[in-house]
Amino acid sequence: MIESPSVHLLGLSAQEVETLVVSLGQPAFRAKQLRNWMFGNLEDDFAKMTNMPKAMLESLAIGHTCRVLKVKACQVAQDGTTKWVFETHDGHFFETVLIPTDDRRSICVSSQIGCAMGCTFCRTATMGFIRNLTLGEILEQAWYVSKYIKEKEGPEARLSNAIFMGMGEPLLNLENVALACEIFNSQEGFGIAKDKITVSTSGVAPKILEWGHRAPDFKLAISLNGSNDTVRSELMPINRRYNIETLLETADEYIRITGQKLTFEYILIKGKTSTPQAARELKRIASHRHCKINLIPLNRGNPDMEAPDDGEIAEFERILAQGDFQVLRRRPRGPDIYAACGQLATEQKKVA
Ligand code: SF4
Repeated sequence: MIESPSVHLLGLSAQEVETLVVSLGQPAFRAKQLRNWMFGNLEDDFAKMTNMPKAMLESLAIGHTCRVLKVKACQVAQDGTTKWVFETHDGHFFETVLIPTDDRRSICVSSQIGCAMGCTFCRTATMGFIRNLTLGEILEQAWYVSKYIKEKEGPEARLSNAIFMGMGEPLLNLENVALACEIFNSQEGFGIAKDKITVSTSGVAPKILEWGHRAPDFKLAISLNGSNDTVRSELMPINRRYNIETLLETADEYIRITGQKLTFEYILIKGKTSTPQAARELKRIASHRHCKINLIPLNRGNPDMEAPDDGEIAEFERILAQGDFQVLRRRPRGPDIYAACGQLATEQKKVA
């Protein structure tokens, strides 16, 4: 276990950093310089922040820190997908994934340690829920991944996309996730375009509306995964609380509030969600809605389920293609290191 953290500067708002530097007897503009060192230069060593007074840096070095996470493991898959296991100050572990493509550098961000939602196809669910990540712990994931990209590809390289599809249900850590999205987007933060920042939810209906009011500029994805209540309740226990009808009413209200196009994520599981009947039901759900569908063939990790074969997927896509909405099939990324959707779960347990 690493030591209990001092004040985690990465997780403070601009106003809080300003209050801090003023309390150290410094002019307010030093706050902007400090944040620029942390976010712009990805610097975590106070001694290297050369344009700031020595006395201020010495004061910061006592009881303050830029980072609280420790890298326990970093694995690179054959396709370049990279997964980090982080240890928190209180001895827990969670994961973050970088998904590089020709023109994108996407980070798959965790919002919680473990997850309470219990989706039966998901390895994270087997951990149970441990706790929410703090704002600083969420931002530090992007800090690490940004630093890795720059060191590997050069100073101009940067994150282009962020998706909250790592561990946890982001809308159950709503305020920290909203603040993190704002800093992901801010030019003083990570500079990722608003429409390249997506939060993915299992379908906590009241929270979807709260999110629509709190953060209407970012994209929302709903993990649908079942085309009727019987199948969806079996895969996602949240459906017993907020069934498909309630979820769709909520989705329509979200679209009305935000004007955003919604994404439905849909996992293809052989014999369960990939049948022609399921395709027709899904087509009915998506028709005449401002939405698109991402199809995700199941990744390995659950011995009781398997992905459909190519022929089944092709027939499923053929039926959906008759609809008035966009359909994309997502390629699994990093399956050999268990970095793909539904595969994140740390084997490492809290240190006693
Ligand atoms: S799929 Fe998402 S919401 Fe469901 S258990 Fe896994 S992490 Fe939680």
